[in-house]
Amino acid sequence: GIAREAMDRLILDVPDYPEAGVVFKDITPLLADHDGFHAAIVALADAGRDESGAVVVDKVLGMEARGFILAAPVALNLEAGFVPVRKAGKLPRECLSESYSLEYGEATLEMHADAVSPGDRVLLVDDVLATGGTIAATRRLVESAGGVVVGAAVLMELGFLSGRDAFDDVACTALAVI
Ligand code: IMP
Repeated sequence: GIAREAMDRLILDVPDYPEAGVVFKDITPLLADHDGFHAAIVALADAGRDESGAVVVDKVLGMEARGFILAAPVALNLEAGFVPVRKAGKLPRECLSESYSLEYGEATLEMHADAVSPGDRVLLVDDVLATGGTIAATRRLVESAGGVVVGAAVLMELGFLSGRDAFDDVACTALAVI
């Protein structure tokens, strides 16, 4: 479909960024193209609907920083709330925290403690699924608040990293897999 066509044309490979040997997926040309951005948002939002098109989520969570850009319009499309998940120390009120390991060291993600209510149905949205650590940690944040993760949706999945194995009981939609 148009979303897939837009991904192929408007997500650019940047070799050796941010370090040698890494090919970074740059989504900014997609964001700058109204038709491509719109198609991508509608396609991501489908992960928050059932087969009849009915909305099945109460909150859409976006992970800092590129996840914010996608999750906020997905939330509006679904008439659901938007919740930011941020790196440690960025949110002003009481937070829930989850840490996960990176290649070197560890990262901590936080969410306001009252952002997800018990029983809330939640969709996670990010730009790229790599090792799966970010989505897996965010899923633990939601569950520690008593919420239920209905699914995850990303623009692009780096399939060779098998990241979805880190949350294999959560449905994950990827608009493109490389
Ligand atoms: P993971 O936790 O290893 O799955 O990495 C996913 C996180 O890293 C997401 O929040 C992405 O924004 C970011 N990320 C990893 N690789 C890329 C990339 O090639 N382009 C853009 N973001 C990336």
